[in-house]
Amino acid sequence: MDNVIVVGAGPVGLWLAGELRLAGVPVTVVEREPGRRAFTRALGIHARTVEVLAMRGLAETPLAEGRALPRWHFGMLPAFPDYSGLDTPYPFVLAYPQNALEDLLERRAVALGAIVRRGVAVTTLTQDHAGVRARLADGTELTASWLAGADGAGSVVRKAAGIAFTGTDATLWGYVADVTLSAPPEITGTLSTPDGALVVAPLPGGRFRLAGFDPRDQEPDREMTMERLVASVRRAAGRDLGIVAASWISRFGNATRQAADYRAGRVLLAGDAAHMHMPTGGVGLNIGVQDAMNLGWKLAAVARGAAPESLLDTYHAERAPVGAAMLANTQAQTALVAAFTPEGQALRAHLSALLERHPAVQHDLALGVSGLDVRYPPADPGAHPLTGRRFADPAVFPLLADARPVLVRAPSTPPVETHLPVLEAAPDAAYALIRPDGHVWWATDEPDPRAAAETIARLWG
Ligand SMILES: Cc1cc2nc3c(=O)[nH]c(=O)nc-3n(C[C@H](O)[C@H](O)[C@H](O)COP(=O)(O)OP(=O)(O)OC[C@H]3O[C@@H](n4cnc5c(N)ncnc54)[C@H](O)[C@@H]3O)c2cc1C
Repeated sequence: MDNVIVVGAGPVGLWLAGELRLAGVPVTVVEREPGRRAFTRALGIHARTVEVLAMRGLAETPLAEGRALPRWHFGMLPAFPDYSGLDTPYPFVLAYPQNALEDLLERRAVALGAIVRRGVAVTTLTQDHAGVRARLADGTELTASWLAGADGAGSVVRKAAGIAFTGTDATLWGYVADVTLSAPPEITGTLSTPDGALVVAPLPGGRFRLAGFDPRDQEPDREMTMERLVASVRRAAGRDLGIVAASWISRFGNATRQAADYRAGRVLLAGDAAHMHMPTGGVGLNIGVQDAMNLGWKLAAVARGAAPESLLDTYHAERAPVGAAMLANTQAQTALVAAFTPEGQALRAHLSALLERHPAVQHDLALGVSGLDVRYPPADPGAHPLTGRRFADPAVFPLLADARPVLVRAPSTPPVETHLPVLEAAPDAAYALIRPDGHVWWATDEPDPRAAAETIARLWG
């Protein structure tokens, strides 16, 4: 059995480690930081990520402790798209802190047998036909058959593997702060004027997250201070909100880049290591966890010797277009956020009015951000139309808990001899095989159980 090094214990690395362990693949996660961040970056978990969590039996705690928001902003427009009509058991954005999710994922990965080494960075790596050698900051080395870089936007793994990170540099800077306010606004939400854009979102414990853009504070690489935060918030809000204390203040830019390849030989990239963008829209964690969901079962199958290495090439083929679409989505949102000119303000008002009047447009925007509309186009043009689609029936989620495929059969079809879990449902096909990541692998309209059993054996052994 091959082993895997995962670099980075963020949400993506931890998800990947759990997936690999479900298949029994030996995994070591190497994390530079000795502990977890006290603050949270992401707050918004989108519907497909909640479904992904549900598929592995992990959605219960985030659903119980998080807050379901039926609306979520797009480009900080005043009219928020409505998520409540999405075709999912989770038609909302779940406000749940990233650090709590990481904690959950790390406990699970360790319980499944992953080794997590904290407080030591990977400094470089080399690879040959047999494996990968990672050098650590403490002077030691680790070797493995495969290495996955989930080490964030500044990825050392990506650089050492010689993978280009193409795109554009930051031209716009925003700020984020978690604060206590003595004079909070009566209504939380977004506002945008020629003097700045601001989101005020409630946090547990009576605190607030402020995120905004100040057209008069756009010098690159300046550290955000309390003084500058107070000034920018006052300009955008038109009054002092009474910032009493801040537990986290930071700045971010709109640099937008994507890895030219998600794989270089025995090295794979996932999450922010493969794509970076403005955090507007709250999608980075979501798309990263979904990268890891796509990669996990494939890398596990190759590591177990159950699938040819070429299966790994489908990872880039399937996920890079999703990443590119999401980068374009965040760029569109960034243009709206930064529309400080009179023309830009008019465009924002116009679009907001259109959104109010046309729920179908709201639905489309929500669908795009939610991750529910992702379809992986099949390599075979003659494949059944269901192939590559997300299998939407939630009855399949518990059957995917151990990351094995599930056979779905229409009630009228004869049973198939298989060791896989079987769901009797109406999948618009006689039989459908659902991949461990919840997408349709193969489907047929032919109610021929022997042919179906042969196909399953060919795909999964
Ligand atoms: C203000 C803000 C708000 C956001 N809000 C949202 C949101 O609402 N929803 C959403 O989906 N996303 C959001 N995001 C984006 C989200 O936080 C990231 O996309 C997410 O953290 C990516 O996860 P990751 O595991 O790929 O990378 P990271 O979380 O960056 O994890 C990488 C890990 O690798 C470690 N590491 C780095 N280099 C090395 C090395 N050489 N050796 C060992 N370890 C290393 C790091 O210490 C880190 O722990 C937001 C981001 C910001 C800044």
